[in-house]
Amino acid sequence: MSTHEIVILGGNLGGLAVAHYLLKHVVPALPKSRHYHITVITPNKKAFFKIAAPRVIAAPSKISTSQILPSIDTAFSSYTGIDFVHGRATRIDPSTGTIEVSIGESVKYDSLVIATGSKYASDLWNSIEDDAMEKLYSEVHEQISKAQTILIAGGGAVGVELAAEVAENFPSKKVTLLTGSARPLPRLSEKSSRRATQQLGSLGVRIMNNHRVTSQKKTGAGTTKITAGEFEEDTDVFIDATGGKPNSGFLPSSWLNENGYVTVNKETLRGTGPEMENVYAIGEVASYTTGSILDIQDGVKALASSIAIDLGLKRKQVSYKLFVKGQVVSIGSRGGVFNLGGWSLPSFFVWLLKSRDMMIGGAEKYIGGAKWD
Ligand SMILES: Cc1cc2nc3c(=O)[nH]c(=O)nc-3n(C[C@H](O)[C@H](O)[C@H](O)COP(=O)(O)OP(=O)(O)OC[C@H]3O[C@@H](n4cnc5c(N)ncnc54)[C@H](O)[C@@H]3O)c2cc1C
Repeated sequence: MSTHEIVILGGNLGGLAVAHYLLKHVVPALPKSRHYHITVITPNKKAFFKIAAPRVIAAPSKISTSQILPSIDTAFSSYTGIDFVHGRATRIDPSTGTIEVSIGESVKYDSLVIATGSKYASDLWNSIEDDAMEKLYSEVHEQISKAQTILIAGGGAVGVELAAEVAENFPSKKVTLLTGSARPLPRLSEKSSRRATQQLGSLGVRIMNNHRVTSQKKTGAGTTKITAGEFEEDTDVFIDATGGKPNSGFLPSSWLNENGYVTVNKETLRGTGPEMENVYAIGEVASYTTGSILDIQDGVKALASSIAIDLGLKRKQVSYKLFVKGQVVSIGSRGGVFNLGGWSLPSFFVWLLKSRDMMIGGAEKYIGGAKWD
C-alpha cells in the first residue's frame, strides 16, 4: 500500500496543534486504501510554552522552567502514525518534494505544513535544543539573582512583561526598559500605553522611550555596555526582548513575501507561491499572522480542513477568521492592560486571564492536545 507523507516543519504551538488535529480529526476519516503518515521535523524534543516565560525568568519558584518545557514524546504517546525527526530543515526542493535536515537526513513530503515560527535575537525566546534551553534559563536565573542592574530592550509585550516581573520579584534591583518608540506597547491604544507606563512606574521600572540599542559590549568588569544613540550605560544583565523575525531563511524565496513570511491564502492557509500545491503554513511564520496564539487557535481548523479536502475528503472548507483582535499584557502578578477590539478592559480581567498564573495550564492543554479534542 502506498504511503502519503505529511511533513510538519516546526514542533511548537502551531506545528504540534496541526499534528494533534490531523491525528484526531482527519487521518481517521481518510480512506483505508492508502496509508497516511506524519513526520514532524523540529530540533526540540520539548515544546516551549513561551507565554509564561517572563515569569519563569524572574521567578522560577513560582513557575519552573520544566513547566514551560513539556515533553513532546509524552504528548504524542497515545498515537500511532507519527514520528519525529530532531533536526532543522535546511533546504527544500519543491520539484522533488524533498527536505534536507541538519542531521544529514533527507525527508520526502507529499503534503507539507510550515510552522517554524519566529527567530528572536535572544535565545530566551527561541525554541532551541533542549539542553541548551535549560542551561540558558538556569544561567539567567543566576545572573539576575546576583545583579544590581537589569536592562531590557523592547517595548512590546515581551519586554513590558519581563520588566514588570523582574521589578516585582526583585524590588531592590534597578530595572530599566528601553523602548524603541514613543511609548511602550505602541501597537495598543495610547490609553493602554499610559496605563502600562503607570503600572510599570509603580513597580519601580525606569522607562526610556525612543531608545533603540545600537551596540552591546561585554566589559572587563563582567558588565555589558549598552549604547542606544546618545544613551550609554553599563548593566549587570542585559536582555534583548525586541520582536522576532520569521524563521523562513531555508525556504525557497519564491514562497516568501517581501518581509520573509510564507505567503498563504489567509482564509485557507494554503500556500500561494509557485510549486506550493499541498503546502500550507500556520502561526508566526505565515503571512496572515498577528503574532499571537490566536492565529493558531483559530487557524488550525482551517488548515486541517484544507488538507482534508486536498486529500479527497468531502468536507466543507473551514475558513480562518480571527475571532477578535486583542492583546492581554500582564504587568506583574496583579493585573496589566487588556485591549479587545479597540476597547481597554480593566486590569482585573488581565489578572483573571493571565497575570495570576501566566496561563500555565495552557501548556498541558495545548501541547498535550486536549485543546484540539
Ligand atoms: C515571551 C513570549 C510571550 C508570549 N506571550 C504571548 C501571549 O501571552 N499571548 C499570545 O497570544 N501570544 C504570545 N506570544 C506569541 C506566541 O508564543 C507565538 O505566537 C507562538 O509561539 C507561535 O507559535 P509557532 O508554532 O508559530 O512558532 P514557535 O512557537 O516559534 O515554534 C516554531 C518551531 O519551529 C522550530 N523550527 C525553527 N526553525 C526550524 C527549522 N528550520 N526546521 C524545523 N523546525 C524549526 C522551532 O524550534 C519551534 O519548535 C508570546 C511570545 C513570546 C516570545
